[in-house]
Amino acid sequence: MSHKPTESLDRRDFMIASIATVGASAALAAHVGKASAQDAAAPSADAAAGAPSATVYTGDVIEGKKVVSALDVNDLEPGKKHLLYFQGVRMPTGQYWYVSVTVARGAKPGKRVVLTSGVHGDEMSSVHTVHSVMNQLDPAEMSGTVMAVTDVSRPAIEGMQRRWPNFGRGNDLIDMNREWPGNENGATAPSRHAGLLFNRLLRPNADAAIDFHTGTTGFDVTAFNIGGTDVPEIKAMLELYPVGQIFDSHVYPGVLHNAFVDAGIPAFCPEIGAARVLDLEMISLFVEGTMNVLKHHGIVAGPMGRTGKDVTVFVGNSAFPILATHGGLVEHLVKLNDKVEAGQKVAVQRNSFGEVVAEYTSAVAGEVTGQRSDAMSEPGNPLAFILFNKAPPEGVEAYPE
Ligand SMILES: [Zn+2]
Repeated sequence: MSHKPTESLDRRDFMIASIATVGASAALAAHVGKASAQDAAAPSADAAAGAPSATVYTGDVIEGKKVVSALDVNDLEPGKKHLLYFQGVRMPTGQYWYVSVTVARGAKPGKRVVLTSGVHGDEMSSVHTVHSVMNQLDPAEMSGTVMAVTDVSRPAIEGMQRRWPNFGRGNDLIDMNREWPGNENGATAPSRHAGLLFNRLLRPNADAAIDFHTGTTGFDVTAFNIGGTDVPEIKAMLELYPVGQIFDSHVYPGVLHNAFVDAGIPAFCPEIGAARVLDLEMISLFVEGTMNVLKHHGIVAGPMGRTGKDVTVFVGNSAFPILATHGGLVEHLVKLNDKVEAGQKVAVQRNSFGEVVAEYTSAVAGEVTGQRSDAMSEPGNPLAFILFNKAPPEGVEAYPE
């Protein structure tokens, strides 16, 4: 849970700093010195320092929903559900990318849990999981607050694609789950959007957080959770899900759940099967687990549902990637969740003549946690990830979120 240094300046910060030091116009310098790239109304210094910032209504209303540029859920009326838009980053047209915010503010005080989805734009089961949890909540009966943001990376969702289409320096696609905690004055729109959301919406309202994902287009995954079990508060939540795999790892920096952890907020990342589709059966497991988490935190009353104790959970601390070495059609010889042995053949690949050009084996014993679902592959594509245990863990991990 180390704090990351926030004083590092990116390109745009340097630009602001350098304009401010030119000194040709004291008035201009003073103005530029205060301005952020977003010039939003909320006090960014307070937000960046982690101080609670009051709710700021922009005065806009979109389809009957009020727009905020900063939110403190404690400002909302208890015992009710609130539907708001948060004003995200500004687009090239000068308009904004708004995100949808649903707050179930309990009648009684208590813990605050934040649920997010749509950091990647093609992961629809994650969105439906959050919807399903929110629809089960009755604020009049709750002690505490649950806030949901289902469409974090709006422009990626508009195209149902993983990455954010960015146009700052020509056409570009940016993976928003490498941008957290973001930078309100960052060089790219996704970085600024991440900074605005994290500083003014997500972190100030979270005592715990869950960032829901699925596999990505062309690559399916099992039902599993990613989180660091060395943090007791995270381990307790991970074990409340009736799903068969836990990837016990801090993975790498830049992902949203790690930004929460770095801010001292326990967080983890569920992975809910294939991209693009709604896997209703798998979704129901994560809804049950998430309701368990809300009961664990005392927000919702009632008996626990099924947990990890009711299923066989395989816990691995590493994901072994099997990468294509050739081009051609890939045929898997194992299925998701299958146990594999070290040396076991897991896939073959054929060229355009039907000749076998590659046979792929797992170098480790473990369980299949992800598989390429697009049948064609070029060299370098991951064909499978095998969840396994290595000791001690070292370095950064690759994983198929
Ligand atoms: Zn994802």
